[in-house]
Amino acid sequence: MNAVQTIPAPSALAHVPFVSVADMMRLVHSIGIEPFIAGLAEYIEADFTRWPEFDKTPRVAAHSPEGVIELMPTADHDSYGFKYVNGHPANMARGFQTVTAFGVLASVANGYPVLLTEMTLLTALRTAAMSALVGRTLAPRGASVMAMIGNGAQCEFQALAFRALCGIKRLRLYDIDAAATAKAARNLAAQGFDVIPCTSAEAAVEGAHVITTCTADKTRATILTDNMVGSGQHINAIGGDCPGKTELHRDILLRSDIFVEYPEQTRIEGEIQQLDSNHPVTELWQVFRGEAPGRTSDRQVTLFDSVGFAVEDFSALRYVRDRVAGTGFAQPLDLLADPDDPRDLFGMLTRAAPA
Ligand code: NAD
Repeated sequence: MNAVQTIPAPSALAHVPFVSVADMMRLVHSIGIEPFIAGLAEYIEADFTRWPEFDKTPRVAAHSPEGVIELMPTADHDSYGFKYVNGHPANMARGFQTVTAFGVLASVANGYPVLLTEMTLLTALRTAAMSALVGRTLAPRGASVMAMIGNGAQCEFQALAFRALCGIKRLRLYDIDAAATAKAARNLAAQGFDVIPCTSAEAAVEGAHVITTCTADKTRATILTDNMVGSGQHINAIGGDCPGKTELHRDILLRSDIFVEYPEQTRIEGEIQQLDSNHPVTELWQVFRGEAPGRTSDRQVTLFDSVGFAVEDFSALRYVRDRVAGTGFAQPLDLLADPDDPRDLFGMLTRAAPA
């Protein structure tokens, strides 16, 4: 990494722009949800097409019987970013989110953070943007119907992204919890979708051009069996994203063309953990650069084995940094000590002692 950035004066750096959940919601509404997702997708695509410039590593995960807590770092020559994110499938029943997150973008030139932001909403938005970006390349021509299995927190974001980028208009919803389907159906009908609640996963996939699986269970689940997937369908599998946590029957993988973010991480966490470690997959950055084919036939089954990679969060952090600059959507946070003499950190502390 070469530090090429010009460093602003210290006083300008002491307060770090902080985007709270309330500010993120105001920012998203000021842009519009679908334009926001489309903007995120542009940033993600731009970063994937300069893939070799990034420091890349599988995320660092701390597993427990209840879930996982992960750090997702990456950097280019200019900026360093990381996200803290958890995944706790049992949380929902206790009134907590399954996934929560926050993240930091920092200057490579001096190591100072330049943005601290909530990323629970931003993760849902960026995951949806990534899914739809991939869908735009892999979904069958003229796709308009999507099945969505798992109607929890990510569901509506995925639907809006697939409308914005791929032209999906009709949604076939299924969740083991009918209340989740009712919630998603209500939210999505209000967004102008043609919504069909279904009573089984088998019914949901009927006539769908795209199948999105976004369930949460810390187990080897079989949300889709081989007989449920027809030729020409695109599968957007986002819920299998941890060791021992998958959604698709292995036979589906064996007859799909599989597209991944970063194989080194996906082989640990994705659906392909069920396959031999040398099973062929296509890296999406090569598809976005035109160096590897995407969909090549109408009969092909394509699978995006999504686990979520640090570069997508880096793109999202860049996007938010650029959108909040010069606006009131970020608050200055007194995060970094700023003594007048950088060597006199102790003096700064003692001068602050109560009289
Ligand atoms: P959530 O807990 O809010 O929703 C999950 C839904 O799945 C629930 O409504 C639950 O009832 C349903 N479900 C569970 N088992 C099911 C089954 N067998 N059939 C049908 N429905 C079932 O979780 P969320 O925040 O929406 O996240 C969904 C999944 O996406 C999680 O596994 C999460 O880890 C994953 N995720 C992946 C990425 C990524 O980048 N790939 C990003 C964010 C979240």
